[in-house]
Parts: sequence; C-alpha cells; structure tokens
Amino acid sequence: MSKITEIEIEEAAEKLEKATAQEVVQWAANRFGSKIALASSFGAEDVALIDIIAKIDKNIKVFTLDTGRLHQETYNIIDAVREKYGVAVDVYFPKGEKVEELENKNGVNPFYRSVELRTLCCHIRKGEPLKRALSGLDAWITGLRKDQASSRASIKKVELDTVNGNIVKVNPLRDWTSEQVWSYIRENHVPYNKLFDQGYTSVGCAPCTRPTKPGEDPRAGRWWWETTTKECGLHYKFKG
Ligand code: SF4
Repeated sequence: MSKITEIEIEEAAEKLEKATAQEVVQWAANRFGSKIALASSFGAEDVALIDIIAKIDKNIKVFTLDTGRLHQETYNIIDAVREKYGVAVDVYFPKGEKVEELENKNGVNPFYRSVELRTLCCHIRKGEPLKRALSGLDAWITGLRKDQASSRASIKKVELDTVNGNIVKVNPLRDWTSEQVWSYIRENHVPYNKLFDQGYTSVGCAPCTRPTKPGEDPRAGRWWWETTTKECGLHYKFKG
C-alpha cells in the first residue's frame, strides 16, 4: 500500500468530516490494511471502539500499554474484551531496567514529587512503549473526543501525528459526547471498566488517577495534584 501524503490526509479529513465513526473506521481499514492499530487504555471510548472495530474488521490490531501501575479493574476488562470479541490485545510493557533505575533512584512513587519526575515516569512507562507499539505502523486509531479537553478541541477525524513520527492518527469518535459513548456501550452490551461505577471519569494509572466529583472536569482526576497538564501520556509530547 502506498505511503499516504499530507494532501491525501487533508482530503480524507475533509471527506470524512461528517462521516459516522463506523465510516471512519471502514475508511481506515481499507486504506491501511494491516498497518493500523487501535491504542486502547480501556476507557469507555476504547471499549466502544473495540466493539465497532470487531463488527467491521477483526484484523485491525488492538494494543495497550501496561504501565505496571494499572488498576485491577483495568486488567479485568482487558481479558473480558479478549474473551467477548476474540481479538488479540498486544500488551507493551516498559523496559524493566529503566523502571528499576527510576525507582532505585527516586523511590517507587516519584510522580508526586515533581512534574519532571512525573514526566520521566510517564516517558518510561508510556512514551517509550508507545514508540515501540507504533513502529512499523502507518496509522493508529484513538478514542479521542473533541469535548474531552481544550487541548483536544481542534482534532480532526484524520490527521498527521507530528508527535509520534508523522504517522496518521484516526479519531473516529471525534464528535461523540460522553453520553453517546455510554448509550453505545449500553445498547450494544459492551463490557466496560468497572472503575466507572466507582466515580472515575477517566482511566489511567492507579496512583495518578482519582474519581471525580459531580460537576468536575472529567479529566480532573488525572494527576490531580498538578495544575499544568491533564493531557494523556499517549497524546502529550514528552519533554526529554
Ligand atoms: Fe507513572 Fe503516573 Fe505516568 Fe503512570 S500516569 S506512567 S504511574 S507518572
């Protein structure tokens, strides 16, 4: 399959501007074949997307980053999805020696001490494994929605991912609201992460995510002690 050009990306984004999530996934499956994968952290959007993908093309790969610090509920949903859909979930783990070095030097919970240490931990446990997961791919699918955060307001359904090696990023749920995601989950009996029944509105690492209160921003529970960023490790350009 020929490498996609920036002009083709712009044309696809325009053509798919009003397309449904299913139409976007279908376009991506046709265009990228085996060179595309869904990045799943097993939040609500991700399980809805797995259901959509499984109904369109089971050959689209699914991968997840097991940071080693996930909630038990997240590990449970990984296996529940494997069982229900018969899809392979490729797990990427951080490099052991890097985690050992981080913890031996800074303690096992360094992220609370400074933004620099939090960013370093995210780089070791997410950034580097993500790089490995994306290597060899021409495109990846994400569960990003534009109303999740101000940093996501201008995303397109198809865009060039300049943060991750200029491959294509496909965001089929760009226009969906949280209510639409949950309606889809309920109507299609999609297994979901039980953290959502405990007040969580975003899924991340256990020590860095807390439930949110009614009226709070859905991402307020991520790195709640920081005021600088609420952006996810997968979509945030790591410094250093
Ligand atoms: Fe480390 Fe927290 Fe980032 Fe997870 S979210 S990789 S535990 S700093």
